[in-house]
Amino acid sequence: MKTLKIAIQKSGRLNEKSVELLKNCGLNFENYKSSLISPVSNFPLEILFLRDDDIPEYVQDGIADLGIVGENVIEETEVDVAYLQRLGFGKCSLKIAVPNNNSIATLEDLNGKAIATTYPVILKKFLEEKGINSEIRTISGSVEISPGLGLSDAICDLVSTGGTLKSNGLKPFADVMSSEAILISNKGNENDDLIQELIQRIQSVLRAKE
Ligand code: ATP
Ligand code: ZN
Repeated sequence: MKTLKIAIQKSGRLNEKSVELLKNCGLNFENYKSSLISPVSNFPLEILFLRDDDIPEYVQDGIADLGIVGENVIEETEVDVAYLQRLGFGKCSLKIAVPNNNSIATLEDLNGKAIATTYPVILKKFLEEKGINSEIRTISGSVEISPGLGLSDAICDLVSTGGTLKSNGLKPFADVMSSEAILISNKGNENDDLIQELIQRIQSVLRAKE
């Protein structure tokens, strides 16, 4: 018999809620400890625990049939996958932020300025749409400290409460995208019976929460 694979984040902001959602669907499995794959005992499904950045490509390439990942990561990796269901957790916004004591007042003021980000693809599209010509500095983390270090004039980073911005002397300036966790599948498989069964279960869990 066929077994589906679903990729979820192995640790981080989406892990706990992803596990909880699947357990609430009545799926029985061991939580991630040291093994990358956990079989579900009462449904033909295996859970793959991965870095979130790898999930969109695994799903696009069919290594996993399904995935739970932030919309921001899907957009940044530019994969072609089917969006099956918004999941209502992992909500955040990708924002441009600038230092508090700063002369940047309008989007146009970002022309010629350096913006540090871990989301160069999304930021580039946003700036192109707005006709703004900034220098994008791609860094791999701790984006919020880069203006203080003189590495950039502004940043583009994920924000949920805004606390991290504040404690680094930054203020939100422009919204680039809003994001939440999404259930994705590889294109063409959306109507598979087992996938449909799982979507039904997920939707009834989400409805019960409303
Ligand atoms: P991994 O080790 O899997 O690569 P990560 O460090 O890249 O993890 P996390 O910080 O765990 O990622 O965030 C996972 C996702 O949670 C983000 O891609 C985003 O969709 C969502 N998220 C929700 N709120 C926030 C926030 N305040 N900051 C960052 N991500 C957030
Ligand atoms: Zn990541």
